[in-house]
Amino acid sequence: MNQNLIHQKGCIFCEAKFNKILLSTENFIIALDDFPLTEGHLLIFSKEHHGCGGELPKKNLIDLIDLKNKVSSLLQQIYGKVSFYEHGRAGHCVSFGPDEIMCHHFHLHALPISCDISITLDTEFQRCDIPSYQTIDDFFYKFGEYLFFENSQNKGAFYPVVNKIQSHLLRTMIAESLKAPERADWEHFDDKIFISTALEQAQTKIKFT
Ligand SMILES: [Zn+2]
Ligand SMILES: [Zn+2]
Repeated sequence: MNQNLIHQKGCIFCEAKFNKILLSTENFIIALDDFPLTEGHLLIFSKEHHGCGGELPKKNLIDLIDLKNKVSSLLQQIYGKVSFYEHGRAGHCVSFGPDEIMCHHFHLHALPISCDISITLDTEFQRCDIPSYQTIDDFFYKFGEYLFFENSQNKGAFYPVVNKIQSHLLRTMIAESLKAPERADWEHFDDKIFISTALEQAQTKIKFT
């Protein structure tokens, strides 16, 4: 049996525990991030287990690009800007207890921001310009684990990761550039008013047809 198809108990993606699912396709789900860095923070994640975008089968990657384009035009239409990030296996954001198996589950974050963390990433990692997310599998094959950030000017950068990095690194950088560092660690971020308002507002505005 294909290991990728195995449902893993306790995996927040497998069990789609998200409160607000906006769209479900054959291979992917688009949902609001339950701990948004900002209003309009979305996740596109695979239904099967794949460690990162670079591991998606080509056919799924093509479907993903279609969804990514949809998300991009919708967020631009509503909020006037969009950026994407992916921390792959290198900087996973989900930690489980010691008795649970760590699940690496592909997810791409989309959010309406224009702050450009690639300026900071460029100083800490080797930058590879990536023409389109559709070629992420080629870069992954060549360089291995990575971080990915696409700024609001549609410029994507791939950063190979060779050493262990802190979890939430990209999230932390974005939270800091939004001047809201308290939002960096989603597991301890509990500004319930901010979270519920952001989720409600996003849900009324973001509609996939
Ligand atoms: Zn899973
Ligand atoms: Zn994540």
